[in-house]
Amino acid sequence: MPTRARNVSCVALRPPQRAEVWLFDCGEGTQHQLLRSDLNISQISRIFITHMHGDHMLGLMGLLATCGMTAHARAIDIYGPRPLGDYVREVSRRTQFQTNYPLGVQEVSEGLIFEDEEYTVTCAPLKHRLPAFGFRVTEKDRPGHFDVEKARHLGIPSGPLYGRLKRGERVTLPDGRTFEGADFCGPAQRGRTVVYCTDTTYCRSAVELARDADLLIHEATFAEADEALAVRSTHSTARMAARVAKEAGVQALVLTHFSPRYFPGNEVGPEDLLLEARSVFPATESAHDFLTIDVERRVE
Ligand SMILES: [Zn+2]
Ligand SMILES: [Zn+2]
Repeated sequence: MPTRARNVSCVALRPPQRAEVWLFDCGEGTQHQLLRSDLNISQISRIFITHMHGDHMLGLMGLLATCGMTAHARAIDIYGPRPLGDYVREVSRRTQFQTNYPLGVQEVSEGLIFEDEEYTVTCAPLKHRLPAFGFRVTEKDRPGHFDVEKARHLGIPSGPLYGRLKRGERVTLPDGRTFEGADFCGPAQRGRTVVYCTDTTYCRSAVELARDADLLIHEATFAEADEALAVRSTHSTARMAARVAKEAGVQALVLTHFSPRYFPGNEVGPEDLLLEARSVFPATESAHDFLTIDVERRVE
């Protein structure tokens, strides 16, 4: 549930240089929080819903309706487990809501759910009371920087030949000289990976999904003292989240989805959950509303 200190689940991802916002979960109040953020509602193009519990999707229809009132020219694609499609169709029908922009709903099962020239998004089942999925966004590797000066200096005519060298091909000039593309290209830029896992108790599937990610965002509903409760309610302790991060070998972990029982100032507070997680995985932070994280490109 929301508290005075934080709202319910939603994470926005801004893929660089695309003027797009991708949302992961859309709890109640998401559109109000968007208004208080520096995110632009008209840039929302994809919404990934982990599962059908209210704290992860009750803000969806309100947000979609608002998008319809703000000349949202862009299509929105929604991804999530069954019965998300029925839910969206039925609420739309019963509230006589029609979008003036293309709206797609894709019900997901394990594996690849989206791919374009720059990104892939895959999902994997988690361990929760309702069918729930974690999402993995992978930026594809980019070819290394092409050394134009070098090519020019060697007297290689600009144009299509540069394109071929850039792609790593071998090129032979009319004068008989041969060049290897690799000699003109810097090292490839490694793509970044962000993984979002909630709601779930510890599971191997989360570890596999998060393998070698740059950033893992994982739920941490409970403190260690309430581990039995975490298992019973199919949620995670902060330590479980840290264990997933450690076993998956990620670069950084961010905890989210804290139970209201750890409200700041209570006997056990959010800082205690953070310490418990850090004892297992030091590169851990805890999320708060409007926290912004730059996922840096890894230097090999
Ligand atoms: Zn849930
Ligand atoms: Zn939840």
